Amino acid sequence: MKKEQCPLCYSEMESIDCTPCHDCGHFENEVKKFNVIGGKFNVYDLYDGLTLQLCDLCKIDFGSYKSDFLGFKDSTTIGFENMNFITEIDKPKMEKDKFCPECKMRMKFLTFISSLREKINE
Ligand SMILES: [Zn+2]
Ligand SMILES: [Zn+2]
Repeated sequence: MKKEQCPLCYSEMESIDCTPCHDCGHFENEVKKFNVIGGKFNVYDLYDGLTLQLCDLCKIDFGSYKSDFLGFKDSTTIGFENMNFITEIDKPKMEKDKFCPECKMRMKFLTFISSLREKINE
């Protein structure tokens, strides 16, 4: 099977188990917590139709991602007040994803960031 590459840094990705949160789902303590008490995850439209699936904490924290990381040329950030709720995940469960050991982020998140940068550049 072909190895997948990180859309941001082109490192080889590793296969991992994640919670349904596209931002923190790869963290070991989040996985442990999810397996014990579960969690709530919602899908949001963050920017012009680009969606991300987040837990409540990551939704609140998203505003701390820096403008240049997100791809904005000005000081724009995406706070929870800028997100449009789309849907709640019904019966959330663990899922497989790829993980970039360089960026320390999962594929779902990296793909979102890469699409966001592209959209901003349009
Ligand atoms: Zn999260
Ligand atoms: Zn990477």
